[in-house]
Amino acid sequence: MLMALGTSRAQLSALISAVLRSTCWSVMEPVVHQVWPRVLQHLRRTLTLPQRSHSGCVENNAVTATTHSRPIRPTLLVSRLYQPSNLRDVGQDSRLQGEMTCKSQRLMQQAGLIHPSNPGCYYYLPATVRSMEKLVRVIDQEMQAIGGQKLDMPSLCSADLWKTSERWDLMGKELFRLKDRHEGDYCLGPTHEEAVTTLVAHQATLSYRQLPLLLYQITRKFRDEPKPKFGLLRGREFYMKDMYSFDVSEEAAYETYESVCQAYTRLFARLGLHCVQVQADTGNIGGTLSHEFQLPADIGEDRLLVCGNCSFSANVETVSSEITDCPHCKTGTLVESKGIEVGHTFYLGKKYSQIFNASFSNAQNKPCVAEMGCYGLGVTRILAAALEVMSTEEGIRWPGLLAPYQVCVLPPKKGSKVDGVAALADDLVHTLEKAVPCLRGEVVLDDRTQMTVGKRLKDANILGYPYVIVVGKGALEGTPRFEMICQQTDETMFLSKEGLIDLLGGVETV
Ligand SMILES: [Zn+2]
Repeated sequence: MLMALGTSRAQLSALISAVLRSTCWSVMEPVVHQVWPRVLQHLRRTLTLPQRSHSGCVENNAVTATTHSRPIRPTLLVSRLYQPSNLRDVGQDSRLQGEMTCKSQRLMQQAGLIHPSNPGCYYYLPATVRSMEKLVRVIDQEMQAIGGQKLDMPSLCSADLWKTSERWDLMGKELFRLKDRHEGDYCLGPTHEEAVTTLVAHQATLSYRQLPLLLYQITRKFRDEPKPKFGLLRGREFYMKDMYSFDVSEEAAYETYESVCQAYTRLFARLGLHCVQVQADTGNIGGTLSHEFQLPADIGEDRLLVCGNCSFSANVETVSSEITDCPHCKTGTLVESKGIEVGHTFYLGKKYSQIFNASFSNAQNKPCVAEMGCYGLGVTRILAAALEVMSTEEGIRWPGLLAPYQVCVLPPKKGSKVDGVAALADDLVHTLEKAVPCLRGEVVLDDRTQMTVGKRLKDANILGYPYVIVVGKGALEGTPRFEMICQQTDETMFLSKEGLIDLLGGVETV
């Protein structure tokens, strides 16, 4: 094995496969164990694997299946994370003039989570992508729990479809339009009622037994906003989850509608967001029944009327301006508040299925037009809206499930009196990841030890890791103790390693 360090990539891979196939593994194991870190180092060089892999690509090889005793996942080091936080002042950037800022946008740019490119468009930097991926997983879980099946439809939509539904003209300037080389008209889809209904219509043999059919996607959407603003809250390019339902009857469609609303309520509850479901206008989507899921916030652009007595709430657009008493319970008074729309549901009836002939065969084998609903969630908007309502003026606070990393471990400053405990910090990262499996890949080590603990704590506050562990002089005690700061609750406690494991064992990740 030692000789392998001088061999070529092909020879080395052959040797490794031979070892892994070897029947005398028990004999080889201690040798491999000893040599493995050096082989890995060599592999990284020859195969140009990144030195610090965040994807776990090294770990996912056959290696961990054989040796569990040694941590192979490299520690995530803050100094290596791409989180450019020394960004230019937004106000100085002429391209962004006209874009209004808000707390979430300011903090996200400050923390190196997003970077503006052109009006209404942003780079989503790695920490944001991690958070978005978690949000997508939560959405997938909730949509699939009610029978949703995920698909992916083209963003480039033919104008023919949109002309058929008459929305090509109706959408006006909001639609991003383009021509291909054959002078064919296209748009970048902001929503996909036409596309999905055509897809279902193309299935000649759809049976009533296959309904309800719930299809959804989570993709980039495009809207030519006249005034993009508030960072990810109102952009021109953003992620949306759009689901479409097909049912046998109006009654069945209402049941599906209700189950999607309940799934949305569960989703927001899991994220710790207190959204209200309000009656809404159906706008250019059409249909007869619609609700918005609004997150109350001062910067919200929607005006809501909420009853102080019962659960009635409505968008002001749907209520006559004269009304001050609740039309539902008749006794409560309606109070106006502002909200950010994070979700929208529509009962569509046969509006699209009739036009595109999306039909199924009923129990008598007769063709019938399907009843439809459509259901949106602003994925990027949920993330930004959550940060907007949860963050402090100084630091980001995440819905626990969506924090890019759960734990940050801070070793002492280099050259300080307690410098000697630095190794304990690295050890702690591995211990935590091993003892609490759901924290694997969720613990970072702030190795910028040229900086004081105070300065790094300030950064940790801005980035909003739910848990920050300071390895300081307490670690020198007989039973080492660590300072644990729970940033969500603003609590600080001193815990042993077991105490940390106990506390972090209760953390929910996705
Ligand atoms: Zn009421």
